[in-house]
Amino acid sequence: MAVALYPGTFDPLTNGHLDILRRGAALFERVVVAVGARVDKQTLLTADERVALVRASAKGMRNVEAVPFTGLVVDFAKAQGATVLLRGLRNPMDYEYETQMAVTNRRLAPGIETVFLVAAVESSFISSTLIKEILTAGGSVDAFVPDAVAKALRARKR
Ligand code: ADP
Repeated sequence: MAVALYPGTFDPLTNGHLDILRRGAALFERVVVAVGARVDKQTLLTADERVALVRASAKGMRNVEAVPFTGLVVDFAKAQGATVLLRGLRNPMDYEYETQMAVTNRRLAPGIETVFLVAAVESSFISSTLIKEILTAGGSVDAFVPDAVAKALRARKR
């Protein structure tokens, strides 16, 4: 069974991310969640906070770990012993972006395959961007994120 790297920004981790993670963990020997540092854009949470929230939310998943990362995803995958990149697909916009990335990553590292899991119907509309918009407007995001994330976001507001 292969080891998969699940790269992303997870700013913050949502129920949609967690669904992909749970289903990926059932398919692969080990899933390493690679929490990206994002030099190109400001994040709501620091890399350490995002890693901690993935760890807290994936507590019961024995073959899942979370680590921060910078640099090229395929290089990081190799360093982790992963031969698969796990990604989620919600809609045609994701498809367009994700296939471009998958083709590029395969050119960069032919031994690494991208595997897509289609988002669950109930979480296919959830995005980290939407979560941040709701927070900015003062709304509750409890229905869209894992409990540990909801708690951390509530603590920030005070
Ligand atoms: P990135 O900045 O690399 O796009 P994200 O944290 O936004 O990082 O997303 C990481 C991965 O999780 C992507 O493959 C994205 O399509 C997927 N994803 C994001 N939200 C959801 C969701 N609600 N359901 C399923 N997959 C999702």
